[in-house]
Amino acid sequence: MKLEISEKFKKLIVDTGKELYKQNLTLGTWGNISVLDSETGLVYIKPSGMDYNDINPEDIIVVDKKGNTIEGLRKPSIEMPMHLSIYNVRKDVGAIVHYHPIYSSVLAVTGFSLPGICEDFVQIVGEKVLCAKYALPGSDELAENAVASLGNRNAVFLLNHGTLCVGKDMKEAMKVCYVVEKTAHIYILSKSVGKCRIIPEEDIKIMQDFAKKSYGKQ
Ligand SMILES: [Zn+2]
Repeated sequence: MKLEISEKFKKLIVDTGKELYKQNLTLGTWGNISVLDSETGLVYIKPSGMDYNDINPEDIIVVDKKGNTIEGLRKPSIEMPMHLSIYNVRKDVGAIVHYHPIYSSVLAVTGFSLPGICEDFVQIVGEKVLCAKYALPGSDELAENAVASLGNRNAVFLLNHGTLCVGKDMKEAMKVCYVVEKTAHIYILSKSVGKCRIIPEEDIKIMQDFAKKSYGKQ
């Protein structure tokens, strides 16, 4: 059986890369993006070492969940093991964005976690974001550490490195990217003003239930 390749997903990777760049959420070639086609089980991923502004749909690599190239002439992102490990463990995830933004990287270089201090954050990201143990970029160890610290939340920091966000689709994953970076910014600034209040666990639970079941639904 020949698996159908979707041009729509290739274009999504190209467009999302340009958006990350335009919004100053990453620099040059750094970071990587992938999307899962739930119908075929194929993953579309950014090529390694290419500037976001130079990537065209034909540069996108299509792989299966074991990392075998199905289509594409370029080398996939070196963080492909991290992307595939997440898709293999988190069945609710359909898109992954790994980026190198300023404020969440401040937390990622200190090894701090980001607590649940803002309502939008606890609703769509999780009760907190943890920092994964250090491992070299592209290593299987980094993939394992990222999966462990991501847990069932939608973002994780990578020590001395950057941030990774997930969502059921690319729109959600990008929303998580913006909210994590905004919350990290607020958290760091709040430290210069005083102590910030962390939202109590029971309130977080209520907000998460609301976001899942009712928010934005007719
Ligand atoms: Zn990176």
